[in-house]
Amino acid sequence: MTSESLDTYRMRARAWLADTELPDVPLDLTARFAVLRQWQKTLFEAGWVGIAWSKEAGGQGLTHLHQLVFIEELVRARAAAPIGLIGLEVVGPSIDRYGSDWQRTELLPRLLSGDDIWCQGFSEPDAGSDLASLRTRAVVGGDEFVVSGQKIWTSWAHEAQWCALLVRTDTSVRKQAGISYLLVDMTSPGITTNQVEQMTGDKEFCEVFFDEVRVPHRNLLGDLNEGWLIATHTLGSERAGATLRRRVELEVALDDAVGQLREHRNGNTTGNSELDRRTRAAIGRAHIALQVLNAQTRQTTARLVAAAGPTPVDSVDKLLLNEVEQTVFSEISDLLGPLRALSNSQPHGLQCERWAHEHLYSRAASIYGGTSQIQRNIIAERLLGLPRG
Ligand SMILES: Cc1cc2nc3c(=O)[nH]c(=O)nc-3n(C[C@H](O)[C@H](O)[C@H](O)COP(=O)(O)OP(=O)(O)OC[C@H]3O[C@@H](n4cnc5c(N)ncnc54)[C@H](O)[C@@H]3O)c2cc1C
Repeated sequence: MTSESLDTYRMRARAWLADTELPDVPLDLTARFAVLRQWQKTLFEAGWVGIAWSKEAGGQGLTHLHQLVFIEELVRARAAAPIGLIGLEVVGPSIDRYGSDWQRTELLPRLLSGDDIWCQGFSEPDAGSDLASLRTRAVVGGDEFVVSGQKIWTSWAHEAQWCALLVRTDTSVRKQAGISYLLVDMTSPGITTNQVEQMTGDKEFCEVFFDEVRVPHRNLLGDLNEGWLIATHTLGSERAGATLRRRVELEVALDDAVGQLREHRNGNTTGNSELDRRTRAAIGRAHIALQVLNAQTRQTTARLVAAAGPTPVDSVDKLLLNEVEQTVFSEISDLLGPLRALSNSQPHGLQCERWAHEHLYSRAASIYGGTSQIQRNIIAERLLGLPRG
C-alpha cells in the first residue's frame, strides 16, 4: 500500500489545524473531560485518530511515522490531546493485537471515536511495582467470570465505560501464570469508583471496587491465564506512546516558557531583551536533555514502524523520559521563579497555574507505567544481563 508522503501529510495536518476551531479547555475537571471528549470525536471524524491503526479496527491504516507527524503538528498548534489516551496509547494496541473479531470490531471503533473511554485496572493497594502479586480474583462460572477485589490509581475510572482489568484466575501456579486479562463494562452491577485527589488538586485517580461483578466469557482478552504476556504488551505500548507524545509536549513547554520570559524581560527593561548567562545556561540544559530524548525517540519510532512489539528497550525510553521531563520542568520553574504566579495561561484548564501544575505533575513521570527503579531493574537484568538484585 502506498501512503501519503510525510511532507504532504504534515502540510495537510497543519492546514486542517489552522482552519479548525481549537477547543478552549475549561478549569473544571468534569467540564474539561466533556470538551476533550468532543474534541476527540472531531479529530476522529476528520481522520486524525487511530492513524497507524488498521482500517478494520476503525483506524487510518497509515504508519507510526504519520502518527508522529500528527502529534507534532497538534502539539505545536497548542491544541489539546484527545482525552482517551489510555485507550489510544495503552490498552487499545493490545486489544488490536490479541483481541477476537468481536472485540476488535465492536470495541475499537468506539474507543477511537471517544464514544467509549477506557481505564487501566492493573495496580492494587499491594501490587504496584510487583504487579504480578495482584489479588483481584475472577472465578469462572458457566459462560461468565465473577470478579471481586480492588484496584487503585485507576486514572479516569469514574468517566470510563470500559476497563482493561487484570485478574487472578489461578492461585495454584507461579504468580505470573495465573493472571487473565478481562475487558470489563464499567456499567456492570457491583462496580464502585471513588475519586482520589492528587497534589495538583485534580481528581483523575480512582480506587475501584469489584463486588461479584459478572463479566461475559467473550470479554476475556487472549487465553485464560495468558494475561501477563498481554499486560507486558500494554505496558510496552504505554511506555513507547508516552515517550513519543511527551517529547513534543516538552519541547513546546520549553518554547512557551522561554517566550514568556522574554516577553516579561522586554516589558520590564529599558530595551535590553538579552537573557543573562545563568538563564541561557538553564535553557541550554533543558534543550540538551530534550535533544537526547529526541534521538532516543527516533529509535522508538523505528521499533513501532517495524512492529517489533514490547522490548526491554521500552524501559530505556521511559527512564529517559522521566528524567528529561523532570529536568525540563525543574529548569522552567527555576527560570520563571516568581513569574509563574503571574501566569494566566492555563492551556490544560488546570486547577492551579500551568507551570506549577506541570512541575507537580512531572513528579508522576517517574511512577506511572512502572517506576524509574523498576525500569532500571528491567534494563539491568534483561538488557545488560546483570544478576538479579
Ligand atoms: C499519574 C499516574 C497515573 C497512574 N495511572 C494508573 C492507571 O491508570 N492504572 C493503574 O493500574 N495504575 C496507575 N498508576 C499506578 C502506577 O502504575 C503505580 O503507582 C506504580 O506501578 C508503582 O506502584 P506503587 O505506587 O504501588 O509503588 P510501590 O510498588 O509500592 O513502590 C514504592 C517504591 O518502592 C520502589 N520499589 C518497589 N519495588 C522495587 C524493586 N523491586 N526494586 C527497586 N525499587 C523498588 C518503587 O520504585 C517506589 O519508589 C498511575 C500512577 C501515576 C503516578
